[in-house]
Amino acid sequence: MELPSREACYRALQSRDARFDGLIFVGVKSTGIYCRPICPARTAKFVNCNFFGSAAAAQDAGFRPCLRCRPETAPDLASWRGTSNTVSRALALISEGALDGNGQSIEKLAARLGIGERQLRRLFLQHLGASPISVAQTRRVLFAKQLIHDTRMPMTEVAMAAGFGSLRRFNETFRDLFRRPPSALRRKSAAKEEEKDVFLRLRYRPPYDWESLLAFFRARAISGIEIVDGERYLRTVEIDGVLGSIEVTHLPSRQSLGVRTRFPEVRSLPAIVARVRRLFDLGADIGMIDEHLSRDPALAPLIAQHPGLRAPGGWDGFETAVRAVLGQQISVTAARRLAGQLVVLHGRTVPHSFRIHPALSHVFPTPKRVASAAIGLGMPAARLRALKAIAEAALEDPNLFRPFGSIEETVARLRNIRGIGEWTAQYVALRAIREMDAFPVTDIGLLRGAAAVDGGKATAANLLIRAESWRPWRAYAAQHLWAAQGNSANTQSPVAS
Ligand SMILES: [Zn+2]
Repeated sequence: MELPSREACYRALQSRDARFDGLIFVGVKSTGIYCRPICPARTAKFVNCNFFGSAAAAQDAGFRPCLRCRPETAPDLASWRGTSNTVSRALALISEGALDGNGQSIEKLAARLGIGERQLRRLFLQHLGASPISVAQTRRVLFAKQLIHDTRMPMTEVAMAAGFGSLRRFNETFRDLFRRPPSALRRKSAAKEEEKDVFLRLRYRPPYDWESLLAFFRARAISGIEIVDGERYLRTVEIDGVLGSIEVTHLPSRQSLGVRTRFPEVRSLPAIVARVRRLFDLGADIGMIDEHLSRDPALAPLIAQHPGLRAPGGWDGFETAVRAVLGQQISVTAARRLAGQLVVLHGRTVPHSFRIHPALSHVFPTPKRVASAAIGLGMPAARLRALKAIAEAALEDPNLFRPFGSIEETVARLRNIRGIGEWTAQYVALRAIREMDAFPVTDIGLLRGAAAVDGGKATAANLLIRAESWRPWRAYAAQHLWAAQGNSANTQSPVAS
């Protein structure tokens, strides 16, 4: 695994350099504790420090998490890790619980990623310094620790929410690691919110262009399922047929987003958190990405204008694909209206007690419903057929909107669906599957953006060549070009589907 030199790591530690937060962890041999580089505790002697590229590697080496700097609250940069797409995808699946519970295994996880088990282990060792199992274990411990520390959730629920099979297992793990029962780690002052809500903070790596992200969501908010006001984003949530809602706010002084969830099933908490991370692009090492793109003199001024601009994600693959099809050839406002009608006609109603806001009335319709019902929307027949085809494909393959193989394979798989062309496939790959190198090159907004920065007229063929040096972060370059086009509000109508 590639870490900076021991000397560089130690300098980061001595200066409590926030740029290394989430990238390196230090295990202190004399205490057996591992810390974030920004830990307020006195800096240990150089000879006593071991440096790791992940919390799991530190925990694997026998260190336990510090109670002061709380490694569980370091920015989780999983989604860019080690420039290995496979590792990033595996981490995303693990964070949704792919290695929790009895029926799960590394074999299954590897199969979902389209590689062998040994190769998966080797990649994890190379990029994270720990095995997939250790990463999953560490994730459970750190997530549980965060829930204990920041909420009033009963311990049995913490154990379930974090993916421990049983309360006994949870208690044993915590006693082994911290030499005290989990309840001893609870802050006296933890959370005062309404009991049915769980409030968590998710850290990002600054800078973070919250305004642009919120503007993007505001322009596209579907009534009934989303609300975006001056400073917060709210939406309804369905996980495995269970309904609830969330509210996301920005906590700039803590370099975090605050997430309030009102959801009947605690076991779904990791899945909800994973989706919020995806939607708000919390895993990006944005400094590195901005630096890479700034090497292009044409992009540099755009990045200076919007430092920390994120690529918004999709909450759900099916929803994202349907929204993309509804938006073909029409304005964002018209697409939004259509989506709102679809939701009222076919989405289930959220029980009032699980609405954080009374207007959060429906969830997005399921593939099953869209496949079987008469859709009843005024739109061209070809596009109605495309909606049906997407719903049928999603029903047939529950992993349709998960990454599989290379980005080219992912895009080809989506293009197999009738009515999904190159633009839609690239767009869905970018938003829902989080292929950060996806690039809908025929997009009219992108072409205009490229023409504006380069002067003259841009063609898709030229732009594709032009974008080679932006790899593997073309999605972020696209976001900057869209932003330069008078912002995201009325762009992204494709010239071709
Ligand atoms: Zn510490």
